[in-house]
Amino acid sequence: MSILNFEKLEKIISLPVFAREILEKPEKEISMRLDLSFGDRMFCTDAYVVYYNTVRGPAKGGIRFSPNITLERVRVFSELMTYKTAIVGIPFGGGKSGVRINPKEFKRDELTDILKEYVHIMKREIDPRIYIPAPDVGTGEREMMVIYGETHIPESVTGKPVSVGGIPGRKEATGRGVFTSAKLGIETFLDKPINDVKVAVQGFGNVGTYGALFLQESGAKIVAVSDTSGGIFNSEGFDVEELIKLKRSGKYLQDYSSESIPRDELLTLDVDVLILAALEGAVTVKNAKDIKAKLIVEGANNPITEEADEILYKNNKIVIPDILASSGAVIASYVEWHQGKSGSLTEKEETYSTIDKLITDTFNYIVEFSKEKRLNYRDGALAIAVKKIIEAMEDRGWI
Ligand code: NAD
Repeated sequence: MSILNFEKLEKIISLPVFAREILEKPEKEISMRLDLSFGDRMFCTDAYVVYYNTVRGPAKGGIRFSPNITLERVRVFSELMTYKTAIVGIPFGGGKSGVRINPKEFKRDELTDILKEYVHIMKREIDPRIYIPAPDVGTGEREMMVIYGETHIPESVTGKPVSVGGIPGRKEATGRGVFTSAKLGIETFLDKPINDVKVAVQGFGNVGTYGALFLQESGAKIVAVSDTSGGIFNSEGFDVEELIKLKRSGKYLQDYSSESIPRDELLTLDVDVLILAALEGAVTVKNAKDIKAKLIVEGANNPITEEADEILYKNNKIVIPDILASSGAVIASYVEWHQGKSGSLTEKEETYSTIDKLITDTFNYIVEFSKEKRLNYRDGALAIAVKKIIEAMEDRGWI
């Protein structure tokens, strides 16, 4: 059930048998049905919450609104959160929620009602000692504000708007982490300055837009971007701010006057860096062999399948794994949780510098550890994360 390959892991770190048993399955799973009536229309759907492991602290993880969400997917995302919080060293465990809806099909008030019903069922769980939600695909600041409106505990939910206890820099946080990871990857593995680097970004939502914007500000050329509607390519590089304005005006990327390309062609373009910032399963055995970028940065959760990962490794591609590259949001969540508890106020630069520092320190450790043990960076990162979790299990007397 776990995403870990325990046989592989046992060859890298000491893995006590009880630790393995604990990590094989999630700690707690909640399946619920949300029943609502919108005027004369009845609406029912399923929602799931999983706490994979909480040895290092309360379960932390976003709420996804998606028509494709399943318990199995929520389980995988909650497990990834467990390793993400561990590797960057913040005091949380891993959790995740999923509500099976397409948010685009509902009015604003209806979405609020759906969320309030979720909070109603979860009222004993949404607690800074148990589970602290945050935004994910299909949810954002507004949804977190609704949750806060129900709990009235500032540190019970993160990703809130600044007006109700959120922190500046939170909405850019995952993109900031993707940028910091990509920049470190460029400096460490590419034989060229960032000004000569060409980048393709799959997914132009929260993570992709800010990741692209920070990279452009550092001198890299964003030559291709895509969203569900398709892709666009310009060998001279785009003005990312203009693309963001276009998206905010409700238009599609393909409305931008430029060379449009089939959506998935973006993945195999001749670029230096490929940022994966859409959804899980983007790179599979079908397209992995055709990827030309030397450096691949996982801004999304789980965007490369296990088999595709092996192909990329054999082809000497460098993958900066999701548990590091997409950790910017949870690091910012930690800053917001801390602010909520202490009553202090945070500057945007503090949010950014905390993300930059934790990601840089962790990146250097992963590279050193993986080189020493002759591992790819994903295996190295997972081994370090599991090692930290085992230490916590020992300290707490779980094993
Ligand atoms: P989002 O909904 O804001 O953006 C997703 C983007 O991907 C959209 O532009 C969508 O059109 C595009 N997309 C979807 N399928 C695509 C495809 N096949 N090809 C090209 N584009 C496609 O979501 P987001 O918040 O940016 O999250 C993106 C990923 O990052 C998810 O995997 C999410 O779990 C992960 N993540 C998000 C955060 C966060 O703070 N938002 C934090 C950590 C990880």
